[in-house]
Amino acid sequence: MLSYRHAYHAGNYADVLKHLVLASTLEYMTRKDKPLLYLDTHAGAGRYRLSESMAQKKAEYRDGVGRLWGRDLPDVLTPLMAVLERLNPTGKLEYYPGSPLIAAELLRPQDRLRLFELHPSDLRLLTGNFAADRRVRIEDSDGFASLKALLPPPSRRALVLIDPPYEQKDDYRRVVRAVLEGYQRFPTGTCLVWYPVVDRSRIDEMARGLKAGGIRNLWQVELGLAPDSEGFGMTSSGLFMINPPWILEAELKEALPELAKRLAPEQGRWMLQQLVGE
Ligand code: SAM
Repeated sequence: MLSYRHAYHAGNYADVLKHLVLASTLEYMTRKDKPLLYLDTHAGAGRYRLSESMAQKKAEYRDGVGRLWGRDLPDVLTPLMAVLERLNPTGKLEYYPGSPLIAAELLRPQDRLRLFELHPSDLRLLTGNFAADRRVRIEDSDGFASLKALLPPPSRRALVLIDPPYEQKDDYRRVVRAVLEGYQRFPTGTCLVWYPVVDRSRIDEMARGLKAGGIRNLWQVELGLAPDSEGFGMTSSGLFMINPPWILEAELKEALPELAKRLAPEQGRWMLQQLVGE
């Protein structure tokens, strides 16, 4: 039984980190003409109206994108903010894009999007949001299995986003298994794996699993509101990045201290490290 709805969290500080990395990676990968496959294993609804009741319940976006909207920002945020501006042309922050919409906005006619979503309500919204976009194919099947089925793509260029809800503890292990299956089939692809830091030992276990599986050019980036602790919910969030664009390192290093200050003025923290070299 799926209960997670991303609308409750849309635009929070964790979305900001995930989506700025996604948007910048897409911006760099679309500089080459060759077609790109975007594979989103856990797509969500695709677009969120911030005045709607789920988004308003805790209004998490106010302490996330709300602290950045309309401000002068580091360069790495430019591709994400360009999407946000197109979605909110009046200048008032009314909508926040999910990962599929960010990708659809930044991809070109020759690119393709494959989106996986299991929750019937979000699936319906997702399908409605992309009904007119012929580049997009949506499936109501298990996103973890899609890596094995779809990689490598014919163009041999792909960006995979793996963003599960981690409602089930097994998700941490399933992510590692799916990434390793995909990597064995297509080691030159780019893959972004989002994770919440609720219990640090689970993240360390994921890192060990990815390293032990032989993955090269593996990075880890995090942005947090408070030091690690057990029993207080999510204190930070991060991404494992496989084969990210080389320029991202310098851009993130410049932006993360600034973002930590703006999003978490009291105890903000950040981390960027290469876990395995090329
Ligand atoms: N990637 C989205 C974004 O950044 O806008 C947010 C996705 S949300 C964190 C996770 C989504 O995965 C939920 O909508 C949930 O219904 C869906 N989901 C859960 N298990 C799944 C599975 N095995 N395969 C595909 N989708 C799944």
